[in-house]
Amino acid sequence: MKHVQDRGLKFEYKVISDMDARPDKCSRCGFKTLIRRSHKFIDLQDIGSISIKRVMRHEQVLWQCKYCGNLFTIRNPNLPFDTNYTDDVKNYVLKRVLDLGDTMRRVVSDLAVLHNVKINVSTIHNWIDVKASREANEKYINGEIPVIEHSGALSLDATFKVVRRKKSE
Ligand SMILES: [Zn+2]
Repeated sequence: MKHVQDRGLKFEYKVISDMDARPDKCSRCGFKTLIRRSHKFIDLQDIGSISIKRVMRHEQVLWQCKYCGNLFTIRNPNLPFDTNYTDDVKNYVLKRVLDLGDTMRRVVSDLAVLHNVKINVSTIHNWIDVKASREANEKYINGEIPVIEHSGALSLDATFKVVRRKKSE
């Protein structure tokens, strides 16, 4: 864990490297000798406090096969692959909006002021949609009634509400 001081705000970095999740063979030909061609850092926002900005820094490695020259990266199992936020941030958001009934705007504001996380309402919308469709799929697989109209469940003022259709519609 690295600590950096910047005008009263403290930064904490946790580094997760692809070097610790080394692929055992080439993704194209299966050859086992790989070289580390280059790397880059991708920062994910983690949940901090009023005075601490927490960053999860992903060291992404570009691998090259020594036999066929194939260049590739891996999906690191220790990191979320579809968002630039940690699971802690995502779980916090889903808990507050879906379980506690807080508005998305309120959660966006609290994350900025209290936890040093910058996020916008559309990102939260997207997470809720993905979660709803995943749960609908699970219900379908389990033989329960599928929830189809999850996309209509979000009102324009960013409050999560269950929308019920009238019989006349
Ligand atoms: Zn290869």
